[in-house]
Amino acid sequence: MSDHFHKTSLMSLKSRIMLYTVLPVIVIIIVAGGFITLSVRHVIDDISRTEAAGSTELACSRVDDVISAWGEAASERAGSEDISRFLQIADDRDSIIENGYYSFVMGELDSTVSSDPVLFERTWIVSALYQGVAFSNSSDGWEAAPDFEASEFPFINALSGNVRYFITDLYKSPISGKTVISAVAPVKDYRTGSVIGYFGADIRLSGLRAKISSLPEMGGNEICVVTSDNTIIYYTDENKMYRSFKKLGIERTYKSVAGESFSNGKREYVGSTCSPENCGWLIYAFRDYTSAKELIDNQTTTTAVTFLCVAAMLIATLSIVSDKVVKPIQDYTRKINSIQFSEDNQDGEDYLRPEGCRELEHFAVGFNSLLKRNHEIMSQLRDMNIKSEKERRLYQTALQSSSDVVFEYDIETDVLITYGSVFDPTIPKTTAYTHEGFVKRVFENDGFTAMKPEDTKSFFSGNTGSESVIARIGENCEKCWISFGGTAICSDSKPVKIVGKISNIDDVVNLREDASRDRFTGLYNKTATESLIDERLSEGGSHALIIIDIDNFKSINDVLGHAYGDHVIKDIASKISGLLNSGDIAGRIGGDEFMALVSGEDVSKRIEGLCTSLCNSIRHTYSDGNDREVSVSSSIGVAMAPEYGTNFKELYSSADIAMYYSKNGGKDRFTVYSGQERREYNGDRR
Ligand code: GH3
Ligand code: MG
Repeated sequence: MSDHFHKTSLMSLKSRIMLYTVLPVIVIIIVAGGFITLSVRHVIDDISRTEAAGSTELACSRVDDVISAWGEAASERAGSEDISRFLQIADDRDSIIENGYYSFVMGELDSTVSSDPVLFERTWIVSALYQGVAFSNSSDGWEAAPDFEASEFPFINALSGNVRYFITDLYKSPISGKTVISAVAPVKDYRTGSVIGYFGADIRLSGLRAKISSLPEMGGNEICVVTSDNTIIYYTDENKMYRSFKKLGIERTYKSVAGESFSNGKREYVGSTCSPENCGWLIYAFRDYTSAKELIDNQTTTTAVTFLCVAAMLIATLSIVSDKVVKPIQDYTRKINSIQFSEDNQDGEDYLRPEGCRELEHFAVGFNSLLKRNHEIMSQLRDMNIKSEKERRLYQTALQSSSDVVFEYDIETDVLITYGSVFDPTIPKTTAYTHEGFVKRVFENDGFTAMKPEDTKSFFSGNTGSESVIARIGENCEKCWISFGGTAICSDSKPVKIVGKISNIDDVVNLREDASRDRFTGLYNKTATESLIDERLSEGGSHALIIIDIDNFKSINDVLGHAYGDHVIKDIASKISGLLNSGDIAGRIGGDEFMALVSGEDVSKRIEGLCTSLCNSIRHTYSDGNDREVSVSSSIGVAMAPEYGTNFKELYSSADIAMYYSKNGGKDRFTVYSGQERREYNGDRR
């Protein structure tokens, strides 16, 4: 555990929790809170505005209804058939009176006024044809009108079409002197539909105001009715009306679109306008919007405060988590970081003391047991290190004092590394080969392959772990003997490496070779001859076993002396070797007795020639130069294999009989055993 780990990973845990978790959450809460607050504010604002706009529109339409109702009433009166007839005969007073039209029309006009005496001041009728006028509630009753000039009545043009009624602007009533408004309707000929007169009703402004004030469901709205010449004829509160409109400016209120808000600098309003038919008036209604905005502001503040409280709670939670979790973790970390990994601090007690947080208690228990296990492993490792060092030194010492070459071969990577090079100084101390390169370098020279390719393959695949003695031809064609072998190391029962050694056993082999030789002649001694022949016979094939006994050898000793006899034996041994091939085996098996095994498919053909040559060569008269001379010859017995034996014992028996056969037959000859000899021999023995 390093300082780096300590600082970056754990010392800053609190900061990182803050940075990656709490801070983003707080930011999200604040941003989301702000967004939600603004959304809420916007929605409330929208609802309030819509509500205010709806309310003002309703107020406008109510007032419009009242104003339209006057016109409707005038229109209905004008549509009466009797009024129409009255106007058609208006120049004939008598006829009017006789026919009862006068009293009827007067009654109609009276009933209009009396239907709402507060609202209506008078009703009147004008004949377009005869320019006559009747006042319903005039003290004069029927009264002729002055000359009728259509241009003086602007509404006449407006009524000429299909308009049902028209409302005029304000004027002073000639009767009461009060301000009135006239609702005028055309009177049409009931047969032709052409306009024949006009029916009018004068409405008192005070009555109109009373009517509008009594309209239900207009609470909270400021209502204003403005005539086409910008005269305000109604306002909810007359004093307030003038004050407000002075500040607002009537022009601007006309242009206000329904639902839009505007401000007079102190308060904010939402307004709506509408225009009743045929009078050019404007009804204006608006609602104070400032209080709604105050409500929205309060709501915004509440929402924002709520989110800030949540953020504060989160910070408080972090603080608690920090105390309960982060701090213990940091304490643990500090302790863990200060561990000295030596065996001295292993006092058998728990290193971390569990306390507080349950998860950390588990962690402490786990860590303590891990630490204990670590100490155990460290202790084992130390022992192993000592052991390994001891073994390494022993191994080094052994290597230094031996001529062995140790090698290690990795099967997977095909890399063979040798350590040591005693038997071949040209090989560096430590060398890496492929296994083929190694075989070529060590076991192949001058066309001689000391290891069979299949054995090489098997050995280096880890399938054999044998030790064998193999001949090697050295760089300078000097022969030396080595012992080569190794053992496979397995992983999951699969060989992965081979370790082994190559030992120079030249001295051992030479010693063994010396022991098998007859020191006198250099030929194999009896034991070696027998075992080599037996070994050769076991390989199968055609062979001939030849036993050679010198005739009259005793005489050599007797006549020429024992030392001379030794010389003769050496001479004869040399003659025998000279006549044999290099692969043949030649040995001295007794004082003047020799043995040879010749092999090959053509052995039966060449055996007679060979035996003849042997007889001729050995036949010799030795002289010491002092007229003492002794002649020697040889008696030879031959047994062919496999015909007369497949092992040494069988073959020797037959060859021996044949040799005695030659001896008995007069010496200086050879006999190739044919079976016949045994019987004679036996008979002879008997
Ligand atoms: P035969 O013709 O029947 O073979 O008779 P031989 O005279 O050859 O005598 P035999 O084969 O029976 O005995 C061999 C003799 O060779 C006996 C021994 O004195 C002599 N001899 C054995 N070894 C040596 C030796 O190393 N040096 C000498 N000088 N003489 C030996
Ligand atoms: Mg002899």
